[in-house]
Amino acid sequence: MKRIYNFSAGPATLPVAVLEEAARGVLEIGDSGMSVLEVSHRGKEYEAIHFEAQERLLRVMGLDPGAYVVLFLGGGASLQFAMVPMNFPGGAGADYVHTGEWSAKAIKEAQRFGAVHVAGSSEDGGFSYIPRELSLRPDAAYVHITTNNTIEGTEWPELPETGGVPLVADASSDILGRALDYSRFALIYAGAQKNLGPAGVTVVVIRREFLERASDAVPAMLSYRVHAKAQSLYNTPPVFGVYVLCLVLRWIEEQGGLTVIEARNREKAGLVYAALDAHPEVYEPAVRVREDRSLMNVTFRLRRGSEEAFLAGARERGMDGLKGHRSVGGFRASIYNAFPVEGCRVLAEYLHDFAGRCN
Ligand SMILES: *Cc1c(COP(=O)(O)O)cnc(C)c1O
Repeated sequence: MKRIYNFSAGPATLPVAVLEEAARGVLEIGDSGMSVLEVSHRGKEYEAIHFEAQERLLRVMGLDPGAYVVLFLGGGASLQFAMVPMNFPGGAGADYVHTGEWSAKAIKEAQRFGAVHVAGSSEDGGFSYIPRELSLRPDAAYVHITTNNTIEGTEWPELPETGGVPLVADASSDILGRALDYSRFALIYAGAQKNLGPAGVTVVVIRREFLERASDAVPAMLSYRVHAKAQSLYNTPPVFGVYVLCLVLRWIEEQGGLTVIEARNREKAGLVYAALDAHPEVYEPAVRVREDRSLMNVTFRLRRGSEEAFLAGARERGMDGLKGHRSVGGFRASIYNAFPVEGCRVLAEYLHDFAGRCN
């Protein structure tokens, strides 16, 4: 099999070792005589995978299992946009920081359930930076941020100080991409298909103390309390997604954990940004504030040359998935954890060559 450099924003590249192991698991899990797709979610084969994934995830994040619970849910990160405000309505409603298209969707869903105060926004600058000035309210139910803005290409360089107010985050496109202090979050969620595994499973990690404040007046399938009480086995979980997630977590630990992953991600992003910055007459990075540039999604536009020619040349060199999101255009190189350093070298070289041809 000849693998291309797949810069897709999600579903995205997975480690080859994980794909090989998953392919075996689809045929037979352990020596059970059954596929991972055929075993009962109440049986010992699946339970071992489920609890291993929960345990590994907390260990990789540096979180205490006594203090946090892990849920594996369906519905994508998009369902969390509704589940968070449904479970934590609070009297005063919540504070949201508006940093792009995904936060807009989160805000829209939260408005169905209560008051939303937009505590900061970078809309005035076309979401090309992370707002520093936030007007946070001490009585807010929580503060919601989007740690990495997949479409626009910004990432919070540091987490905001929220005083005693619980910090909630959509980390769909950068969870486990760097060695953050994850204990700063009261709740963090992510669709798996960018940095964690295949589409179909959404990871939600909640501080137990915060969970105690969750509403009881929520349908069972949408209730964090119900899922947490059942160790995320209230109904049939997305078993295949959890299985592959478990393999990805083993892979992360084999690599040396988040410090090693972060160093590699910084190297990868550094290669691409340096190539863009070397040719300002040809490339325009979409993010204005350097510190706010994403390690995961590198966004840029052409000042010269044709977009079609750029993409065609990239495909000739074995690269695909570089077209920007349809709402913003331009280009986007998504270089999540499993994306190889070598692919970033190939892209950087191509950026130099293409610029040379435009001059
Ligand atoms: C992809 C993405 C989503 C949407 O995820 P789904 O799992 O498709 O619902 C939400 N937020 C961010 C930041 C994303 O990158």
